[in-house]
Amino acid sequence: MKRAMITGVFGQDGSFLAEFLVRNGYEVFGLCRNNSGLQPLRHIPIYNHINLIHCDLLDRELLNKIIGDLSPHEIYNLASQSLPSLSWADPKQTIEPNCIGAVNIFEAVRAYSPETRVYQASSSEMFGESEELAHDENSVFNPKNPYAATKVFSHQMAKIYREAYGLFIANGILFNHESERRPFHFVTQKVAYGAACASLGLTNSPDLTEDGVPIFVNNTLPMGNLEIYRDWGFAGDYVEAMQLMLQQDEPDDFIIATGELHSIGDLCQTAFACAGKDWRDYVVNDSKFTRPSDATKSHASISKAKNQLGWSPRLRFGGLVERMVVAQINRLKDKLANSNVVPKQG
Ligand code: NDP
Repeated sequence: MKRAMITGVFGQDGSFLAEFLVRNGYEVFGLCRNNSGLQPLRHIPIYNHINLIHCDLLDRELLNKIIGDLSPHEIYNLASQSLPSLSWADPKQTIEPNCIGAVNIFEAVRAYSPETRVYQASSSEMFGESEELAHDENSVFNPKNPYAATKVFSHQMAKIYREAYGLFIANGILFNHESERRPFHFVTQKVAYGAACASLGLTNSPDLTEDGVPIFVNNTLPMGNLEIYRDWGFAGDYVEAMQLMLQQDEPDDFIIATGELHSIGDLCQTAFACAGKDWRDYVVNDSKFTRPSDATKSHASISKAKNQLGWSPRLRFGGLVERMVVAQINRLKDKLANSNVVPKQG
């Protein structure tokens, strides 16, 4: 039986990957910092099949011991401060897990378990603003926020360890991937949630922003720039690509995306349509949600993943948005059923 270790197992991707690996006969060891995170994992059926290990990636000694003792066949390094906007507010909190944490994993593998294959979570944010029509694995990086810069660092360190020490480390350059397990501070979930509130006739949402204001407030969804374009796929599809990368003969880097771009405006239109509403009645501009610097277009070429991994995305934009809106409607209904608020009929 193959042993896999997942760092960041309580995150969105960690939970989908754990599910996928357990279904495929792996023994899964999930590293988590503490029990205070979002923990979508607790809600999935295979929760009891995961061996949880408490370890901060910055605790190098403990990490060395865990990797040395376990000698896993595969490590998926997903742990990260993964929010670009937070990386402006607290660069250190981003640099530590994303840079030092990643190198701690590579070092532990080099010293104590060199046969272990490692997946490193790189990001399309590394491309930043670019004139190129399509990004492929050889495109130049031009990071535009601290998060993206940390991802360039760990990506390059993975290549350096691969070349200098002959380790099997694959970088997955993943474009945005979403699901009902995303936290609210990601735009897709915020929009899905706003659409769900509109569908249920709520004027103010029970869930609040970090500033303590309802996310859906006075029957409106305040948003930043609607002209930002993203390539959004489904996290459940993307974790399968991660596993495929570690089954190749040689370690390599792969872009994983859908190859389709949609604007945040498209996202609003699609989500509110799924809820039976017209987005223009609800979405309002609020400059507070505009980031200091943001790549407006990032297009992906996925031919390498298609040809070498045999991977293609299954759930496309419309299906993904609908899945997220339906999940938020159901979640809100459950939440309201346990409180005294009676939603109007949408
Ligand atoms: P999440 O933010 O959902 O999960 C990240 C996890 O990392 C959290 O569980 C967090 O734990 C954990 N973590 C953070 N710091 C540490 C630390 N010092 N030690 C141990 N664990 C830590 O991210 P996703 O699942 O969405 O993404 C997975 C990876 O893929 C990340 O590296 C992300 O940057 C990258 N990525 C994601 C994309 C996406 O669209 N989702 C796109 C491209 C790349 P805690 O719960 O305690 O905070």
